[in-house]
Amino acid sequence: MVDLHEVTKVYPGGVRALREIDLRIRRGELASIIGPSGSGKTTMLHIVGTLDRPTSGEVRIAGYDVSTLKDRELSALRAHRIGFVFQQFHLSFGIPAVDNVADGLLYTGLPARRRRERAVAALERVGLGHRLGHRPHQMSGGEQQRVAVARAVVGDPPLVLADEPTGNLDSSSGAEVLRLLRDLNAEGTTVVIITHDMEVAAATDRQVRMRDGQIVEDVRTGGSS
Ligand code: ADP
Ligand code: MG
Repeated sequence: MVDLHEVTKVYPGGVRALREIDLRIRRGELASIIGPSGSGKTTMLHIVGTLDRPTSGEVRIAGYDVSTLKDRELSALRAHRIGFVFQQFHLSFGIPAVDNVADGLLYTGLPARRRRERAVAALERVGLGHRLGHRPHQMSGGEQQRVAVARAVVGDPPLVLADEPTGNLDSSSGAEVLRLLRDLNAEGTTVVIITHDMEVAAATDRQVRMRDGQIVEDVRTGGSS
């Protein structure tokens, strides 16, 4: 699903955020990426998510060599194959939960009514079938993040990437979001979670540890809980 070969990312200004990273994540894996602030975790997730291109090296996502794709093709790859969950939720504030989720299907060409039906089903799946009309500011942080998970998965992407998805949540809401991501993985979705929470990392099958733009440890534990 993910294959990085000697991937280096140098930001304008000269920061080497990633240094010759090699990483393969197979279909169906549940992996966490851990490491101190500034170690390159978000940069790596952006490259895996095709939100950014590497300075050098090869990136294959879901079988596609990203360097050969035009920006429009990359957008299509993202829209159809990758779901994102962010620490700050990134929901649109003025609009109801169901529309926030339905917007995750804008690129599919589905008619509005079908988008809405699928959004309702996705919200039911995350336990928010009773909050369809609520706007984000009328919901708790945990509920907002569940809306964000629903938006990420409404198109059934094979790959879901989460950057500190529990970072702004209390422990019980965080546990609920983690459970959703684990359930998703159990149904076959490849899930990659950036986290600094060791309990979250321990609940994944594989922990990839980064430091100074490099992978310094890659441990498969088979998961827990
Ligand atoms: P992490 O997510 O592990 O905290 P990041 O990937 O965000 O790490 O950042 C890795 C390094 O790259 C840091 O030194 C950071 O300051 C730098 N960096 C991140 N984004 C940019 C950017 N857009 N421009 C310049 N430097 C950046
Ligand atoms: Mg980060």
